[in-house]
Parts: sequence; structure tokens; C-alpha cells
Amino acid sequence: MPHQVPIAEGLFTWPADQPALLCSRCQHCGIASFPVADSCMACSGQEVSVEELPNQGTLWTWTVQHFMPKTPYNSGETMETFKPYGVGYVELPGGVRVEGRLTESDPQKLQIGMPMEVVFAPYRTDDDGNEVISFFFRPVQ
Ligand SMILES: [Zn+2]
Repeated sequence: MPHQVPIAEGLFTWPADQPALLCSRCQHCGIASFPVADSCMACSGQEVSVEELPNQGTLWTWTVQHFMPKTPYNSGETMETFKPYGVGYVELPGGVRVEGRLTESDPQKLQIGMPMEVVFAPYRTDDDGNEVISFFFRPVQ
């Protein structure tokens, strides 16, 4: 099994049996932000704590991306291998909206307000042969 590395440090708990996205929550006003920020975007408060986010939420808005993303967002696709993919914002309990790729790209199967869960999966392989792990949102079955 190839070594697995997170796509970015501090984005989610890794390695973990049950990885979770991480947010920072302002100790002053209670607003949470994703990804983790050193200070609060709402009130500029400097006291924030890092918390794990719930792994289920609801689809807030979405679209299907038909253009190949530029690096560093490109996952190694070429014009020949690229397939359109869903991307959206999922609202998690606690009032945080997280943008991410969706596992589903069929507009018939996506609906605002539907329950979604976070899954962690290989996104691409880096130059050292490691599997780069990112998070995706998947419709709850
Ligand atoms: Zn604040």
C-alpha cells in the first residue's frame, strides 16, 4: 500500500481512524472558520481554538465543473482523462460552510439541502509516489 499524505497540513486530522475536518472557533464571538485561521474573520479576535467538524451536513449550493482546474488544484488530469466533477458548499452543524469536491457529478442526483457526508480519499499521486489524500463530499445513502 502506498504511503498516504494529507493534501495540506492542518486541514483535517491525519492519520486517524476516523479523520475529521478541522475548523477554528473564535473564543470571543463563537464564529467558526474553515480552514483553520489564526484570527477570527468576523471580529478579528486572536483567541481561537481548533475543533473537529461533524462529518455530516447539508448541501448548500453546488455546480458541475466542466473545465480542467489549473495547478495546484489539478489532480493530474489531462485534457484526455479529465471528467466533469461536482463541487459545492456543504453546511455543517455549527454554521460552517465548507467548499469541496463532490463524489457525484450527475446533476440529477444532486439537490440543495440533501444530506452529505465527508469522505477522505486519494486525490492524486505526488512525485515521490505518495497518495495525496483529500476530502470529498458524498451524498448520504
Ligand atoms: Zn470572533
